[in-house]
Amino acid sequence: MKKKTYTVTHHRKKCISCGACELEAPQSWTLDTEDGLSMIEGALEKGQFFVGRILEDDLEDNKRAEQNCPVHIIKIMENGETSSFSSL
Ligand code: SF4
Repeated sequence: MKKKTYTVTHHRKKCISCGACELEAPQSWTLDTEDGLSMIEGALEKGQFFVGRILEDDLEDNKRAEQNCPVHIIKIMENGETSSFSSL
């Protein structure tokens, strides 16, 4: 059976490099060694956001990353949902 995928949207320029997302979901997030901001594995830049995709297996870890991000710049959507970020 095909696994569900989810879209993760990250307002990267507002990242404060706290590392909470990497702590909760290290398989999906890393802090960039050059600018210190976090990055979703395989994300593509789309306007002012970075957009990546995760598998269902990584959903719980990424939900914790979303909840624990102190500046609320991570949004997870089931594919087909509309982003709550207004410019997407
Ligand atoms: S939890 Fe939020 S602020 Fe902290 S590193 Fe991750 S994206 Fe940046």
